[in-house]
Formats: sequence, structure tokens, C-alpha cells
Amino acid sequence: MTINYLLLATMLYFLLGTAVGSFLDVWARRILRGESPTGRSKCEDCGHVLSASDLIPLLSFLFLRGRCRYCRKPLSWQYPIVEVGTGIVFASLAFKFGVLGINFKLLAFVPLLVAVSALIAAFITDILEQVIADKFLFVGAGAAFLYRATFYLTNFDSNGFNLGLDILGALGVFALFQLIRWATKKRGMGDGDPPLGFAAGLLVGFPLVLVQIFLTFTLGGLVAAVLLVLKKKHLKDKVAFGPFLIIAAFATLLFGEYILDWYLTLLSF
Ligand SMILES: [Zn+2]
Repeated sequence: MTINYLLLATMLYFLLGTAVGSFLDVWARRILRGESPTGRSKCEDCGHVLSASDLIPLLSFLFLRGRCRYCRKPLSWQYPIVEVGTGIVFASLAFKFGVLGINFKLLAFVPLLVAVSALIAAFITDILEQVIADKFLFVGAGAAFLYRATFYLTNFDSNGFNLGLDILGALGVFALFQLIRWATKKRGMGDGDPPLGFAAGLLVGFPLVLVQIFLTFTLGGLVAAVLLVLKKKHLKDKVAFGPFLIIAAFATLLFGEYILDWYLTLLSF
């Protein structure tokens, strides 16, 4: 494969990601407002129904210079951030898994992207209002299962890990989070966190689930410490836990093997 072809394919996955991100952002906001996921998009300020040309990911935002075409009120920065973020996640996963053409790997890659999309939607609602819709958890866990199952069928990776271990690992995360909820009297985690842990754990599989848990608590601890030092939060405040877990899951999907190798090398000295 030539470099040009690689770049083109990665770029296409980036564009697909911005479109999916745009859709996820709207869906997540509608779920928070209790609205149906279908129906025409409207400006949140003036209520004007948006046309197709207002809804092109990134380009509409840039072209309209971040304002509504009809009432000129500033649009939320959340739109371009979610669009670019999803684009980067899709493109880097495509690059990492080498899914840059039409081949059998696509069978496993499609459910992977669906699971990742469900986690991004959960990320948005958790960070905004500390809730995770059950839909996102079911879609995330179901797609993660399909991905792991096809992962072995398509010989994505010849490492002989098995689906049973992946499921056990994910159940282990679920149990650990339930235990933390019980021990902290539900202050440390919300209702959605154990099932989110299951979905994310299944997605990365065993043994990378260990890396994911390690990264989640490291990241969560670091951010909590910074917020405490800056006095933005107090010890009694709640910080959404889901976003740390989801960032850790994406980092593990992309770099998990390297982190695990690095850690095992450290242990062997
Ligand atoms: Zn408007």
C-alpha cells in the first residue's frame, strides 16, 4: 500500500467520524432533554429548523464562523469538539487496526466503531449531566461482544486470547465497580458506571482490560488531585467517573499492547 493510499483512507475515516460525531452529539443532547432522536434539527436559540447545508460537520461551523445562520447567536463549541474528537478516534483506530481497504477485517471493525460511538455518546451525557442512558450501555456492550467475537473469527490478531476470558474480564470490572459503589456508599460512582465498565472492558478484552483499569484510576486520580489543588472541587464533590473510563478505553485500544509490554519489562528488572 502506498503512503498516498494510507493517507486517503485515514482521511476518509476521519470524515466518517466527524459525521458520526455530529449525529452522536445531537442524539446525546436530545436524550438529555427527553426528546425523540428523530426529527429535524433546530437552532437551540431561535428554534429555526436547520437545512442540510447547516449540518455539514465542521464545515458548517467554520463557514458560519460559529454562529447560527438565522439568529447569529454563537453555536456551542461542543459541536466541533465532538466532531473532530470522533474523527480522530475513528481515523486512529482505522490506522492502528490496518482497516484501510475492503477486507475481512471490516467485519470486526464495523461493530468496533459502533461500540466506540456508543461510548462517545455516553461520554457526552456523563460529562454534561452525569447520566448515562441505558441505550448507550446496551448498544456499547452488544457491539463490543460482536466485535470481540468477529475479532477471533477474522483472525484479526493471532494471539489466541479467547472470548470467554474477555467476558470474565469485563464481569470482573463490573464487580469491582459495584464493590467501590458499595464501599463509598454510591458517592464514588453512579448507576451507569458498573455496566459502562463491563462494556468498555469487553471492548478491549483480556488482558488489556487490566491496562484499562490501571489507566482509568491513574487518570481519574490525577485529574481529581489537580482539581482539589486548584480548589475547583472539594473532597465531597462528585466528579463524573465515566469520561475517565472511556478515555482510558480508547487509549487502551490504541496503545494497550505497548503499555502492557512496558509494564512487564519494568516488572522483570
Ligand atoms: Zn438561531
